[in-house]
Parts: sequence; structure tokens; C-alpha cells
Amino acid sequence: MSKSQDRDLGMGREITRRDFLNGVALGVGGVMLPPGAIGRLGRPGDTAAQESYYPPTATGMRGSHPGSFEVAHSFRDGRTWTGVDSGERYDMVVVGGGLSGLSAGLFFQDSAGPSSRVLILDNHDDFGGHAKRNEFSYGGRTLMLNGGTSNLEATRHYSTVARTLLSAVGLDLERAAGAQETSRDFYAGLGLTGGTFFSREAFGTDRLVTGSARGFGPGAAQRGWAEWLTQTPLSPEVQRDIAVLEESGPPVGDWSGLTDAERKSRLARMSYQAFLLERAGVSPEVLPFYDDRPKGLFCVGIDALPALYAWAMGYPGFQQLDLQPFSRVGPLTHIGGGQHGRERQFDGGPTIELPDGNATLARLLVRAMIPDALPGSTLDDSIMARLDYSRLDRSGSPARIRLNSTVVGVRHRGGQENASEVEVTYVGPDGAARTVRAAHVVMACQNDIIPYLCPELPPEQRAALGYGERMPIVYTNVLIRDWTVFADLGIRSVNSPGMYHSNFNLGRAIDIGGYDPPRSPDDPMVLHMTRTPCAPGLPKKEQHRRGRQDLLTTTFDTFERNIRDQLGRSLSGGGFDPARDIAAITVNRWPHGYAYSYDTLDDPIEWSLFEADDRPCVVGRRRFGRISIANSDAAATPHTDAAIDEGYRAVGEQLVVRSRAQGSDAV
Ligand SMILES: Cc1cc2nc3c(=O)[nH]c(=O)nc-3n(C[C@H](O)[C@H](O)[C@H](O)COP(=O)(O)OP(=O)(O)OC[C@H]3O[C@@H](n4cnc5c(N)ncnc54)[C@H](O)[C@@H]3O)c2cc1C
Repeated sequence: MSKSQDRDLGMGREITRRDFLNGVALGVGGVMLPPGAIGRLGRPGDTAAQESYYPPTATGMRGSHPGSFEVAHSFRDGRTWTGVDSGERYDMVVVGGGLSGLSAGLFFQDSAGPSSRVLILDNHDDFGGHAKRNEFSYGGRTLMLNGGTSNLEATRHYSTVARTLLSAVGLDLERAAGAQETSRDFYAGLGLTGGTFFSREAFGTDRLVTGSARGFGPGAAQRGWAEWLTQTPLSPEVQRDIAVLEESGPPVGDWSGLTDAERKSRLARMSYQAFLLERAGVSPEVLPFYDDRPKGLFCVGIDALPALYAWAMGYPGFQQLDLQPFSRVGPLTHIGGGQHGRERQFDGGPTIELPDGNATLARLLVRAMIPDALPGSTLDDSIMARLDYSRLDRSGSPARIRLNSTVVGVRHRGGQENASEVEVTYVGPDGAARTVRAAHVVMACQNDIIPYLCPELPPEQRAALGYGERMPIVYTNVLIRDWTVFADLGIRSVNSPGMYHSNFNLGRAIDIGGYDPPRSPDDPMVLHMTRTPCAPGLPKKEQHRRGRQDLLTTTFDTFERNIRDQLGRSLSGGGFDPARDIAAITVNRWPHGYAYSYDTLDDPIEWSLFEADDRPCVVGRRRFGRISIANSDAAATPHTDAAIDEGYRAVGEQLVVRSRAQGSDAV
């Protein structure tokens, strides 16, 4: 792109972005970290630095931010550290401060008693793992959105343990469900529709087509596919194929003699792309229209999505197969296994969205363990409360959360059988390695790093822990000065097949706890965009590996240029000017995103459809002496309830060890 094009996009403009250098903020715009603050975090006496430490307002490259992963990567590549004994002793150390680790910390504290000492270590500058809050200040108001973990999905599928935890920390599901209606009602009242942006890269010309064939929003006209498609730049043949696929689906043909189970079994073993080409007989030019559809949930396109999952997700083409819903109580209820899609089966109950997503849960978990870090006592009063990060890691506090600390070693002191302590070595923000000791350890970090951290583990378990491949994904949040363009175009969201980000939409307008969401189109607004880097045509795990590499090597400048270009072109019909209208950009990149889940194309089919004992997640999560393994990877499920349930199981295992070691005193 030329310099003048960059100027038109506003690449040189002063906004809150790229303000981090090696993980340390330079203090522009809404960023609150003075240079060196991270290094001083946690040192008594430096109150100014501690009070200004507030990561949710940091912009630029977030998620896996600079400074969070370098130690782990050099450790993986062979660097070693010898820790200096800090003298700190704990009852429990948790490695990883995501929802699983925070839950584990609380479960342990709750069971072992309020005076038990718990330390949670995390490599990021903020807690919550994927469940992060992005906060923006503009024109005197605070706006927020999730930087990762978006919602509590289908909460009726949550276990008793998970639901009890939510209730115990004050996450009142009924109240939250009521609050999110305010956002739904608000947007419904505006009558905005969706849109599809056909880009010149993918379709030969730039064109925004608003509305959809099925209608969008209350009272929307049911235009029918043929009519809607005439507005697109797609050829008449492609339009015809899509209309047939959407409205009637292909005939049953030579599958007419197959039972329901046999049809499902065949769908399980073919990709949706193969289904479209081979069974539906669409032209290959149809594929780009559908290819991005599964990416936000499965992190691959239709070439690697089992057709069975596409059916479960409600994709078109299966109408005439007359597939029967799964039994309500059978083991296939949650097809595909822990994969996304289960929420579509039966009524999973409300999916709860809060202004910052599941970061609210992370904050409530912190409040439950360290009450004075977050003022208040209810869900409502937590929303706008400013979390005091200086209280997370205080000596004397029974629960401590230590950020910017990457664990590089976890070993029993003495043999695993007889040890009474585990030594945990971590590298802090100053680059120094320290050790702490604990009676019990829960590994709530992702599975693939555990074999490096715990070299004592048996080879079979190490191999099982390395089996999966976390799925890379990006949630980009863009603060715009107003959203009159959206109101003028009559749209709320835009799908952008084949573009850098596959879609974008207006943020949440949830009225809860004094949060003042955008109401008028003249108000500032946070847009949400999703990007899933992958490599179509390759095996799924290889696609995830390449996507991760892509995320770790792409500069913020490249993201910014693509964001400005995409928004500018998609919204040009409404007069959007990226140079003028963008006020801040936060790119939440998650190279180690969703937990790897088994699927019917790439893994043994029983691993995907049943809770088989030989699944690597089961072999990998075996207790090893005083070390137990939590995290959503341990369930091979990218969902918050799995993160909680696995934290509970891991802590339960260690409570047994504790009880046996201490006799009845431990109960
Ligand atoms: C963009 C995105 C959106 C999502 N949306 C949803 C959703 O809407 N609903 C849903 O249910 N789930 C969603 N998920 C899935 C989400 O992963 C889980 O819900 C849950 O948040 C996972 O929590 P966790 O604690 O198991 O893992 P993580 O959140 O990955 O937490 C693990 C933590 O351990 C840290 N760690 C790793 N190694 C070390 C080390 N050596 N030393 C110290 N710390 C370490 C990691 O950096 C991380 O902070 C989403 C995930 C992503 C990425």
C-alpha cells in the first residue's frame, strides 16, 4: 500500500494504539501504565505505579501481548533457569490465572479453609486468561467489550458445580439474562439488519449488500434467496446453486436406502466442503460464500469442518435428508463432543452476555478470594467498579495473584511418591527466576506446555498432553467516534467472506450496574471484529499451527492497516472515513485460543462422539503426585463450564492427597 493510501486510511493519526513497547505502555491516550510499572508491580511502597496499573484500558496488541510469551517460548526452545528460593510457602500454587485457575484457587480456599494460602501465577499483565476486559474512555464515558471469552453459553448445560460456582461468586444468571435483554431490545427497536460485504479480492468487486434472504430483525421482509442474491456480484450460476442449497437442499439420491444413523455416519466422515461439492453438486465458485462461516467457532473453514457438525450448526443443504435430532438423554446430545455446536442441540437455556463478556466472572472470582480488590458485593456493583490491581499480590493475604510471571518448572521435592512439597519456578517481570514451594499444585495452563514444565511426567502422559493444538483466533475491538454510518446504512453487523476479519458488528448495549452503553448513533461505539488465521486444505492441526505462527509474526501495523481498509471499504456507502472515525484499536490476539476438541474427520470418531477413556485429554489429566491438571484442555472443550469443572476435579484430587497425608484433621 502506498504512503498516500496509508495517509487516507489514517495510519499516521494519533489514536490509542501501538502504545506498548515490549509489554510496557508508553502512556498515550487511555493507557495507564508508566514505563517500568510492570517491573515494580507488587513491590510495597510504590503506590503511584500500583494505583495507575490498570491493564483493561491498554490498547494496541493485547491478548497474547508483547512481554507475555517470550519467556515461555525461549524455555520451549531450550533455555533454562535456576530459581532463587523466595522463601514463600503455600498450601496451593495454581499455574495459570484463567477461569479454570481462578476457579481452582477459590475451590481450594473454600474447602481448605479461609486461612489456607493460595498463589496463582499467570504470565499476562492481567488475570482471566482468555476472559479479559477491554475498556475505552472517550468523550467522558467508559465503554467496554470482551477481549476474549464472550459469553456463558447455554447455561442449562452447565454442571451443578459450575452453576453453584457462578451463584457463589454472585453471578446471578437471572439478573444477567434480564440485563442482556436491554441490548437485544435496543437493537431490535432500531430495526437494523445484517449485511454481507463482497470484496474485490474474493468476488472481483467491492459491494455491500444489506439485509438477508430470511429477513433480519422484527418485521423484516422475507425476500427469498433468489431475490436477495440478485444484488450480489455473484454469477447467475452461483446464485442459482446457492438458492437451491438454501431453499430446498439437494435430493437424497443414492442415500435413500440409508438409515438415519448411516446418513449421520457418512456426514461425520466428510467435510462440509466435500458435501457441498459432491452431494449438493454446487459449483466451486459457491465455496467462498460459505467458507468463513465456521471460522469464528471452529477456527477452520469448511474444508476441515465435518458435514455432521455443519448440520448441527444449521448450515444449509440437509433439508431433504430428514435427519432426526439426537436423543435428549443419549451420549450424543452434545454433538460434536466438546465442540461448538452443542449449544444448538435442544434448549440449552439462556446464553449470558455481559458488557465485558466472561471477564465479569473472572473479576467476581477475584473478589471472592480477595474481597477488597473489587469494591461491592453484587453482580451489578461489580460492573463499573475499578479493580485495584495493587491488592492482588500482598504478603499476608491468604490468596495472592501474581501477574507477569511465567512458570518454567514444577517438580516434586524428592520422589513423587513421598514428596511433601512441590517446587515451582517462575520468571518475573524483572527477568529473574524465583522458586516458591507448595503442598499442592494445579496446572491450569494449557496442556502443551505442561510436559516442558513437569519433565518427571510419564512419557505416555507427556505425549497425551502434547496431542492437541490450541486454536488461534483474534478478537479485535475498534472504538469509533460515532455509529451514524451504521444507522444510515440500516445495519448492525457485516459478514465479510474472504477478508482479513471475517465479520464485524456493533458492540453490546447492555444496561447493567450503572454502565452507560451507547444509545444514540452520535455516541461512541466499540466495534467487534473476528479474525481466524488458518491454512485451508491442510490437516486441521497444521492449520492451527500455521495460524498461530501468523499471529505471532504479524505486526500491529499490519493489523491496523487491514482494519482501516476493511472498515473504510465496507462502510464507504455510509461515508465512513477510517482516518477520521477510528479513535482506538485493541487487537486481542490469541495464538493459543480455544482448547483443541476432537472431531470426526481428524480424530478417532469415538473421541468426538463419546467420552472415551483413551482420549488424550483423559490420559493427559491424570494426577501426578501432588500435581493435578485443570484447564479447558483437560476436557478438550473450549467452554467456560469445562474450565470450571476441570478446576474442581483437579482441586478435588489434591484434597484427597491432603486428606490422606493429614488424616482427619484435613477435612
Ligand atoms: C477469543 C475467545 C473467545 C471465547 N469465547 C467463549 C465463549 O463465548 N464462551 C465460552 O464458554 N468459552 C469461550 N472461549 C473459550 C475459553 O477458552 C474458555 O471459556 C475459558 O475462558 C478457558 O479458561 P482456561 O482457564 O481453561 O484457559 P485460559 O483462559 O487459556 O487460561 C490459562 C492461563 O494460563 C496461562 N499460562 C499458560 N502457561 C503458563 C505458564 N507457564 N506460566 C503462567 N501462566 C501460564 C495462560 O497464559 C492463560 O492466562 C473463548 C476463547 C477465546 C480465545
